[in-house]
Amino acid sequence: MKFLLSKEQWYALRDDRTNRIIKKNLGDDYSVGVIIDPKISESYALQCMTILTCNNLARWCRKIIIDMPDCNQTISSVFDGNLKNHIQKNMSEIDPHGNFTFQKIDEGKCSLLLCIGDPKRDLTKPFFWIDSSGWLAGYGYCTNSSIEQRSEKNPIGPAFASCLASAFLFSQAINTQDIPKFSNYYSLFDYKQNSNHTVLQNPNIPNTIDIGKICQVGCGAVGSSFDYLLALTSYSGDIQLIDFDVVKYENCSSSFAFTVYDAQENKVETCSKFLQKGNFSVNTHCKSYNDFTNEPNFEHYNPDLILCFANEDDIWTRIQNIIPCIVLHAATTESWAVTFGRHTPIKEWCIVCAFYHLIDAKFVGQCSTGVIEDSNKNTIVGNLPFLAPCAATFVLAEIIRLNMNIIKKSNYVHFSLKNPFSISESHRKKMNDCMCTTQPSNIFKQLHNNTKFFNI
Ligand SMILES: [Zn+2]
Repeated sequence: MKFLLSKEQWYALRDDRTNRIIKKNLGDDYSVGVIIDPKISESYALQCMTILTCNNLARWCRKIIIDMPDCNQTISSVFDGNLKNHIQKNMSEIDPHGNFTFQKIDEGKCSLLLCIGDPKRDLTKPFFWIDSSGWLAGYGYCTNSSIEQRSEKNPIGPAFASCLASAFLFSQAINTQDIPKFSNYYSLFDYKQNSNHTVLQNPNIPNTIDIGKICQVGCGAVGSSFDYLLALTSYSGDIQLIDFDVVKYENCSSSFAFTVYDAQENKVETCSKFLQKGNFSVNTHCKSYNDFTNEPNFEHYNPDLILCFANEDDIWTRIQNIIPCIVLHAATTESWAVTFGRHTPIKEWCIVCAFYHLIDAKFVGQCSTGVIEDSNKNTIVGNLPFLAPCAATFVLAEIIRLNMNIIKKSNYVHFSLKNPFSISESHRKKMNDCMCTTQPSNIFKQLHNNTKFFNI
């Protein structure tokens, strides 16, 4: 298939969401040189970080030079065998007008340098680095990683590290700042950070997990990135994908999944392609969540988890109206942050409590009879390339924890990707006058007692 847009037409559309936030156009001026650890052929984490970082950088940086050895990818059957070929093809589909080359890097010719893992050589120019293993993501400036690689297939640390790389380089590209040398590490197992990664928690996880029956509401930037991350695993599960929308060129800036050749395709179908090549059983529903709940066999889906990645109109009240099982939500903000929330029925706040401040509506009646008199209208909001992938990573981390029978006390996480990054977690309580306070707990038990995570 041929891509017909001129360079100017394409970048005007592609960079629209990004430029709405940074209030300027990055243009062709910035180039990133990416130097990859030669041990990539034997490391799942290095392969994951490289695939995801190149993918995300290509969504905002128009000139990228990559220095990596030839090797076969051992991540997933979803991707082509040769890693370099896969990345090259993927980047050219993400940005057909991009200038992406694979060669030895002339440091003087790159605006910014990124090392993935240990570059195994001395660099003369300041550089940013990322590294990861299991739940850990490390990053730093002009220092070196001390993470030991493990053979385990955990995508969380690598995905998070790739978001940190893209966010850091992006903020330097729009406003270059003098930064002192540093190293820092996060564990997404418990959201802790430290300059010494050996004090952080990094438990092993199973290589294969049946993530259960999932209803994914929304296949936009966060939802599609989530499905792309699932393709990096050997997990299985049964997934209902619900979204009425089609992919537009503007969507190519902020998701791991969409390329220009997905334009005009239903978002649910693009997402389904990644999952079906793996071990997932997928049904697509190209319709609104409301229409989905009116399907004749809706009650038979009875999911273990609902993932809410949509924010249109009255989605939160519609979900709470059906007396849901555990709901996870993730969203991005215009202030460079992502938010993640968990909503366990009866015990915790609900998804309406979480978005109460955004709902311009009055609830009438109780339980499942609540209707909305008025709701806020959708407007196009800005988004930054690395936010939705980061939000998706937080959701997958929670799903892995749930499958390890671990439920953390905190049910809300806020992470700012504005340099210097900052993370906070808390336990949010029910709102006093929310609809969830009047929904009877015995109905939740009746409906969900047999679902996978209800009694954790
Ligand atoms: Zn509530």
